Amino acid sequence: MLWSSATPRLGVTDMTSVRALRLIPLVLGLLLAGGGPFSRTGMARQQAIPSPESFFGFQMGADRTLANWDRLLEYYRVLAKASNRLQLVELGTSSEGRPYVAIFISSPANLAKLDHYRQLNARLADPRGLSEADAEKLVSEAKAVVIQSFALHSTEVAASQTAAEFVYDSVTRTGEEAQRMRDNVISIVMPSINPDGTQMIADWYMKHVGTEYEAAGLPWLYQKYAGHDNNRDGFALNLPESQHLGRLMYREWLPQAYVDHHQMGSSNARISIPPYAEPIRPGADPLVWREMSLWGAHMGNTLEAAGKTGVIGAAIYSGWGHMGFHWITPFHNIAGMLTESASARQATPMFLHPDQLRGGPRGLPEYDVQTTMPSLWQGGWWRVRDIVEYQKLAAWATVDLAARNRENLLWNMYLKGTRQTERGAAAEVKAYAIPASQHDPLTANKLVNLLLASGVEVQQARARFEVDRRVYGPGSFVVSMAQPKQGLVRWMLGRTFYPDNSYTRDREGNPIRPYDMSTDTFGEFMGVQVDPVEAKVEVDLVTLEANVRPKGTVASAASNGYVLSTKLNDTFRAVNQLLDQGASVRRVRSADGFTPGDFIVSGAPAGSLAPIAAETGVDFVALSGGAPPDTYEIRKPRIAMYQRYGGGNMDEGWTRLMFEQFDVPFTSIKDAAIQAGNLEATYDVIVLPADSVAAMTGERPGGEGGRGGGGRGGGPSNTPPEYRSGFGAEGVKALEAFVQQGGTLLTFAQAGDLPIQRFGLPLRNVVAGLEPKAFWSPGSTLRVRYDTSHPLAYGMPADGLALFMNGSQVYQVTSTERSQDVEVFSTYRDRDILQSGWLLGEEVIAKKAAAVLVRHGEGRVVLIGFRPQHRDQTHGTFKLVFNALLNAPPSSVTNTPDGVGMR
Ligand SMILES: [Zn+2]
Repeated sequence: MLWSSATPRLGVTDMTSVRALRLIPLVLGLLLAGGGPFSRTGMARQQAIPSPESFFGFQMGADRTLANWDRLLEYYRVLAKASNRLQLVELGTSSEGRPYVAIFISSPANLAKLDHYRQLNARLADPRGLSEADAEKLVSEAKAVVIQSFALHSTEVAASQTAAEFVYDSVTRTGEEAQRMRDNVISIVMPSINPDGTQMIADWYMKHVGTEYEAAGLPWLYQKYAGHDNNRDGFALNLPESQHLGRLMYREWLPQAYVDHHQMGSSNARISIPPYAEPIRPGADPLVWREMSLWGAHMGNTLEAAGKTGVIGAAIYSGWGHMGFHWITPFHNIAGMLTESASARQATPMFLHPDQLRGGPRGLPEYDVQTTMPSLWQGGWWRVRDIVEYQKLAAWATVDLAARNRENLLWNMYLKGTRQTERGAAAEVKAYAIPASQHDPLTANKLVNLLLASGVEVQQARARFEVDRRVYGPGSFVVSMAQPKQGLVRWMLGRTFYPDNSYTRDREGNPIRPYDMSTDTFGEFMGVQVDPVEAKVEVDLVTLEANVRPKGTVASAASNGYVLSTKLNDTFRAVNQLLDQGASVRRVRSADGFTPGDFIVSGAPAGSLAPIAAETGVDFVALSGGAPPDTYEIRKPRIAMYQRYGGGNMDEGWTRLMFEQFDVPFTSIKDAAIQAGNLEATYDVIVLPADSVAAMTGERPGGEGGRGGGGRGGGPSNTPPEYRSGFGAEGVKALEAFVQQGGTLLTFAQAGDLPIQRFGLPLRNVVAGLEPKAFWSPGSTLRVRYDTSHPLAYGMPADGLALFMNGSQVYQVTSTERSQDVEVFSTYRDRDILQSGWLLGEEVIAKKAAAVLVRHGEGRVVLIGFRPQHRDQTHGTFKLVFNALLNAPPSSVTNTPDGVGMR
């Protein structure tokens, strides 16, 4: 069973810490009240529950005050002890090891049978084989399930505070409405889906409140790896937080609704509620969009009835967003929604003059009444307490609608699952096949495991089969579209073309930037071959019940050493482990029977190989005959990656996560270490993640260090001096000296500007400064060629893909006497460059360089113009990064007749 009903209970130590914080009168009162917290009678226990105000000593959302996660969690533990209408369940831990909890709120009778209700719900969500009569029986018995999450984006500070009051209200309110909610609904509250960030931002804010740095932006990422990008992980599930929520929502509970509570800018509506604006991503069951309108109408009605103004729906946030939780859930047949409230300055009130209020994007052309915003907020003070009240009403209305429409919503669940399955069976594409024979089969397995983690059914063929005139070997995977989540399958595996129409162009015909990416085709991101299948697959298929995780094997007799395939990402992980253990590792440049870049391993400590093979899945194949002559030694690289303040750099964070996953040894270095110089004494490679020159050097305050390029921690305007960031001209000089002394500088996307502009590399970025109509490719997979004989493209497919983002670069060699220093190892194709997404002006980049090496002094600069490690998702191009981290063969970087090599 995936879901555990084990409920951590408050221990003595917890009570002690609670007592320390002026709860003594309350706790004592509760114990003296007869039943006390251990009573079995619900009412007596409800009366003894401390309100947030009495527990924290201030009202939630009070000016200039934030409760941090430690205290919030204590409060929830007190509630769990005191109320039998609530269960606190630890789903796991956060990235930094904090408890990651869900709060289940329902009647005591329902909570006693949680697993039973979970099973009923899951059966309705996947109704294959269920008769209508049986479905009706299930509907009459089952409970509606709603998940609401708070505080994903930590700098949107209100939601973590809102959750405490919402949970308190949900368990303590009396009356018919509240009782109906507890009787009919299992309301699952994620009080913070980023507890680390909730802790960070509250501590940071409270440290500076009342000083000149009040409401200063958090200098670093508020999620260890992802910062603000933590909501871009709802399909890739790289973060522990996403994995826990994904398991709860995609595989265990399949709620009828999911709402994620956020904050937006301050200058237009007070709260944005469902439904979404245009365009929407097609392919979900229509009912799911209708349900969002129902929920939005009920939220809007509840807010207006309570006298709240400036409530807008069907605007600002389009239904074609990123594949984060609230935007991908419609394809899980869940009404996935968000609320976005206007922000104050963290917990500091903000005054908005009526002149400062204006229209917004998508569906709010003027700041005036319209059907989707029938009342105007007139300006004035706006405080966190206002946000708490708006969010609480929206959250309450969400559960209330589910309580009033339990049977309809559950029946819809059955309909959505049934109809999506039927549509998938009748569609032109009947399935997606993932051949066993892959360039990198271990990465293909990871794609399969990710589908399983999303609750998608995947089958595996035990025998060879033929379909659509293609032959698939045994072990190939088949993902049928005749399943409830076929919409999700289509977006993760099928080619995607972002709409180019009046919804996505302005009046002048300029393309409007999509909310995030214009494709999220995960098979393409991972470099895995996935084929759409139009005919019926005629072979025995076994439904996978567990992850695919083959153990690698070690050849028994290998006196000459072992060969590891350079095509596998996980080989690089194995190599990192082997180098760490002192094994001898060499790389093959070229030899019959080898792929250029294959690794040859010898001299590993006895017994060390089998665990590495088992953990990585990589096979250690016996080297037959002697070692090929044309090899070179690989040394354990000394790697540094630049990390800055200014809200942090999300690309840096994701790269750090990828490095950890592949056991890449590295050190994070900040400005001072770079400015100190002599970098070549300590490092072989320095990585500059995607970032602007201004943000890296700090030479232009207010650059990408602010909201745009950072982790959304906030701009540097009032940052405490010790957190102001930028290595300046001094750092640029030190980095160039590092390269000239033989170091490797590796840049991703726009970070390439630094060496191009400051080192004077003989390169030009051909897409710099172009009008959007002339060139446009926001988050697309583009077709490129890799020179697989070049050490930087070893192990890549000759024809591959690259993920192009806004800010990505495409290179052309400028005609200077230094052009012989440039080696191109990846180029865009000459035509039909777009694989998925949106591309205007392909002729601008046709046949141009996507990634280059430039020799500079004794060292080299490696510029990868796209995002080879975007959000830790683009496994298909990870090897470009890994190759760049390893030392090059001496001759390929020799630039003088007498052969002066480099490290
Ligand atoms: Zn947000």
